[in-house]
Amino acid sequence: MRAEIDRFMTETVDTFLAPFHDPLRAALSTETRLHGRAEEWDAALATIQSNTRASQFDSDTVSVGDPNADFEEVLSMFLPWRKGPLKVGKTLIDTEWRSDWKWQRISSNIEPLKGKQVLDIGCGNGYHLFRMLGAGADLALGIDPTILFNYQFNLLQKLSHPNRAYLLPLRSEHLPQFGGFDTVFSLGVLYHRRSPIDHLKELLSFTKPGGELVLETLVVEGDRNTLLIPQDRYAKMANVWFIPSTSMLELMLRRAGFIDVKTVDVNVTSLEEQRATRWMQFQSLADYLDPTDKTKTVEGYPAPTRAILVARKPEVARKPEVARKPEVARKPEVARKPEVARNRK
Ligand code: SAH
Repeated sequence: MRAEIDRFMTETVDTFLAPFHDPLRAALSTETRLHGRAEEWDAALATIQSNTRASQFDSDTVSVGDPNADFEEVLSMFLPWRKGPLKVGKTLIDTEWRSDWKWQRISSNIEPLKGKQVLDIGCGNGYHLFRMLGAGADLALGIDPTILFNYQFNLLQKLSHPNRAYLLPLRSEHLPQFGGFDTVFSLGVLYHRRSPIDHLKELLSFTKPGGELVLETLVVEGDRNTLLIPQDRYAKMANVWFIPSTSMLELMLRRAGFIDVKTVDVNVTSLEEQRATRWMQFQSLADYLDPTDKTKTVEGYPAPTRAILVARKPEVARKPEVARKPEVARKPEVARKPEVARNRK
């Protein structure tokens, strides 16, 4: 995993990211989680021969490595494989998610990525980072705090042609305000955040003026006053905090400072899109739904439905003066002063 951090630092010295290397190094040194299996995983990665590097990122299955080579044993050290499909050497990894379906819904609805510099917050093992490069992006930076996914990415990179996809083991709260990415993606992350507007404001701070945000998150049906806060778990997940309607999400995005906000897709997650496989043997969507009514979760909430929204950061940042206007209205405070004085009497 260290190798991937070093590769990022070396290969981005001549890019707009160079001024952020120091804050990123500081965040990496204090915020990267430790993992009990790190040593074992490092040893497994070291066994991978990277003399035959091959990769294909522009089709539904992201493929890396010599198609005749057998990496099954190493791959099974890095279970569970959630995002894909992936083909590593001769092995097709049928991952828990058909992440290619999410990509199809996204890619037809966003600005072309050709030549762009993009950021993917909460990118998992980096499946979508590779698809972004496959769609022509010049540089794709991902961040994800889950150490296993960083190792999976490292494994995929060891077998790929040299490319400009990078992954750092950080949370979005720990990133500097890059202000320079053409397109920022946050897919499947917002509902894990306790403070959704703060997350959207972070995303705004990473985006360059005029750049695009692509947001994918769980939604419920309803008007702009509809928000589901699960009493406890949602689809057995303990860390789901907010599930708004699309209209409320649009409002949140505008309040956070985005413009041209649009909902471009709404999709009920199917049992074919998220399921247990040989490569992810824990519970999956089928276990999270009410066995007698698949439109409900086991807790009785609406079954997982996901929306994709796009929005833009204004070309010119909204002038702080506008935001400060209420100062003019502060006059009453002056008028109120005597009240304080009266209380003191
Ligand atoms: N974007 C991928 C994966 C979504 S799963 C996809 O849509 O298929 C959610 C991911 O977000 C997990 O990998 C988790 O580790 C990561 N995550 C959770 N909280 C995060 C945070 N605060 N900042 C960045 N990533 C986060």
